[in-house]
Amino acid sequence: MATISANSPALKALGRTLKGSIHLPRDFGYDKLRTPWLDVVDQHPALIVDAACAEDVVAAVDFARTERLSFGVMSTGHGIAAPCDGLLLRFTKMNGVSVDASRRVATVAPGAVSSDLLKETEKHQLVYPAGQVGNVGVTGHALGGGIGWLVRKVGAAANSIVGADVVLADGSLVRADAEKNPDLFWALRGGGGNFGAVVSLEIALTPMADVIGGEIYFPLERAPELLRFYREWSSTLSSDTSTVFRLLAVPPAITSPHEIRGKKVCMIGLCHTEPESRDAVLAPLDALGEPLRTDVKRRSFASLAGLDPASHSSGTPAYSQTEYLDALSDDAIDRLAGLAETMMPPLMQFEVQQLGGALASVSRDRGGAFEPPAAPYLLHLVTPAVKASMTEIASATSDAVTALGDVVTGKKIYNFLRGDEIHRVSDAFSAASFDRLHEIKRRYDPANFFHLNLNVTP
Ligand SMILES: Cc1cc2nc3c(=O)[nH]c(=O)nc-3n(C[C@H](O)[C@H](O)[C@H](O)COP(=O)(O)OP(=O)(O)OC[C@H]3O[C@@H](n4cnc5c(N)ncnc54)[C@H](O)[C@@H]3O)c2cc1C
Repeated sequence: MATISANSPALKALGRTLKGSIHLPRDFGYDKLRTPWLDVVDQHPALIVDAACAEDVVAAVDFARTERLSFGVMSTGHGIAAPCDGLLLRFTKMNGVSVDASRRVATVAPGAVSSDLLKETEKHQLVYPAGQVGNVGVTGHALGGGIGWLVRKVGAAANSIVGADVVLADGSLVRADAEKNPDLFWALRGGGGNFGAVVSLEIALTPMADVIGGEIYFPLERAPELLRFYREWSSTLSSDTSTVFRLLAVPPAITSPHEIRGKKVCMIGLCHTEPESRDAVLAPLDALGEPLRTDVKRRSFASLAGLDPASHSSGTPAYSQTEYLDALSDDAIDRLAGLAETMMPPLMQFEVQQLGGALASVSRDRGGAFEPPAAPYLLHLVTPAVKASMTEIASATSDAVTALGDVVTGKKIYNFLRGDEIHRVSDAFSAASFDRLHEIKRRYDPANFFHLNLNVTP
């Protein structure tokens, strides 16, 4: 581990420059600041800079470069791919959000999370394509692609980025948008944190009042029948509706809803953005009979996207794998349902997310490095490491994916790659886009200063 003395003149000079704070290993608050939300990476940086403004970020980048410290960027810690032992940049003081309703654009500071932004956009009946969980960072989610409850209506969050202020590896603060540094702007929309530290992001907003949305739970025994229903029903839906199907073992925790607490269940989740046509979408679901639990109702998009499934409510270590699926074949359905019957650690949750709709068309039309393949579904396998070891979970997850056979496409989605899948980063892009990302990286970060991430090398 790199160390830096509290008496170092360079560190003292940094302290005088910063409006934010410096935290060294034995300081109060250091452990909290070094620990990612998704507690899978144990990092012990030599120092943490909790920035208060863009100038602090410039000072932190200059300091790390001059002192030859590795440099990590952490907003919430939902997606840390590699531990930082040098200078870790945090943004707990930079979490402001402002909405210009007339231009339908939000300006977001790097520490803001999805629910911070949705609370503001809701006041103006505007939305952005947030992820499914309210405490994920807006910037990290959008830079890596960013899909969620509006994926089929609005597309990915990366497609909604209209501009960014970025501190580059040489310490310069630059603007990236359609006019200024358009190549950097292209790379930021899907290429993650590889090109600089983003200190402000501008995101285009979409007008939307209420949605019909929520989750409907049934007993797990109905999985084969309900997955087949889901395949047929979801294929009839327009891009106004985004859906997921989840098979999960609900934790017995008091925080889990009592109707499903400790049970193995299937869940159909939806977000329908045209409340007037709700009956046509919901009637087939009503015909499925009495569920164990439902909370589908007319609500603001913010209340839907701020929902945290029980398994996501705390920062326990978790293991996940995500794969694009070409189809939900009968065979794949039977295998998923069969796997779910034995579901308990080391496997706890399978989710099939419907893609299509606006995702492909918007990504194509608005450019950017995020390029989803034409696959109709995304499969997420997620297991909190509560009772099983990570090794057991990893092996069970890998077996489950192998068992699904050739419906698994082999392409990857950048935001959901684990740290040990860095060698698969190229699978998140077409060959041409990956070449272009390398080329832009060579131009903006030739020494790979920003490498503690899902790395695109120069
Ligand atoms: C519980 C959970 C739910 C999730 N749900 C979704 C979902 O619905 N949809 C989806 O697409 N993804 C989802 N993800 C994945 C998530 O979008 C990525 O992990 C994303 O990188 C998280 O960003 P963050 O800033 O919150 O996390 P961090 O761990 O703080 O950041 C991850 C990486 O993003 C980069 N980064 C973050 N901020 C900046 C910045 N200001 N400048 C430059 N680089 C930066 C850095 O490379 C950093 O290492 C989920 C992850 C978890 C754990």
